[in-house]
Amino acid sequence: MGNQSLGNLTRHFQNTDLMPALFLGHGNPMNAIEENEFVQGFRNVVKDIAQPQAILCVSAHWETRGTFVTAMEHPKTIHDFGGFPKELYEVEYPAPGSPELATETKQKIKSTTVGLTDDWGLDHGAWSVIKHLYPKANVPVIEMSLDYQKKPAYHYELAKELASFRSKGVLIIGSGNMVHNLHQVAWHKMNEPGFGFDWALEAREKMKTLMQEGDHRALIDYEKQGQSFQMAIPTPEHFLPLLYTLALKQEDESISFFNDKAIGGSLTMTSVKIQK
Ligand code: ZN
Repeated sequence: MGNQSLGNLTRHFQNTDLMPALFLGHGNPMNAIEENEFVQGFRNVVKDIAQPQAILCVSAHWETRGTFVTAMEHPKTIHDFGGFPKELYEVEYPAPGSPELATETKQKIKSTTVGLTDDWGLDHGAWSVIKHLYPKANVPVIEMSLDYQKKPAYHYELAKELASFRSKGVLIIGSGNMVHNLHQVAWHKMNEPGFGFDWALEAREKMKTLMQEGDHRALIDYEKQGQSFQMAIPTPEHFLPLLYTLALKQEDESISFFNDKAIGGSLTMTSVKIQK
């Protein structure tokens, strides 16, 4: 099994230059089918990224007990939301899976036993944004779940074990929203990008400053960062994918932001690119 899959890795994943790492603020599922500045931002960000050999996506919308990766040849498109127009449910994103990358991920990660599963697919945290990066659905995608039992530091350390994939043509994407409080959304302002409540804008600025200063510890300890963070991160699942992306940053890499706007008062679309 081990030799077999090392053979697969050699065959399927050539050595490459270091791939960037991304955090994508996915926001409203309607971004999957709407044309707007955020969608343009997703399209733009891949313009100077070499075609990946595969994508590993950590989505806010797949929480499990234990850490799993999707291991099927053909992940289904999961429409994991309610109350949206019919056309959104009709979207299919038929990117292939990568059982090889799933197996390699399981072997690579030593700090926990990663489970391989066929019992998922691509949820909208993955497909609603990746479809704008690679509309032809020609890059294999696997998802990695969030273990909801674990503390933020676990996720950050786990992500570090994925670092070498970046030199194998694997684009690692965290998909969530840094500021994400659905109880506070000003729905009537959803069509006014830039509208954020004071606490949301404060949290956004503070998060960006911490990222620019490389203070990942403070972001891991987000629960200790005061009221604006408590409002911004009422539950961890949309924030944790950011920690996966940040953990991959090397000393000599830069961090840049795009789609850096609040929306609906209590969400931010702020997205991150880490690259040489
Ligand atoms: Zn979401």
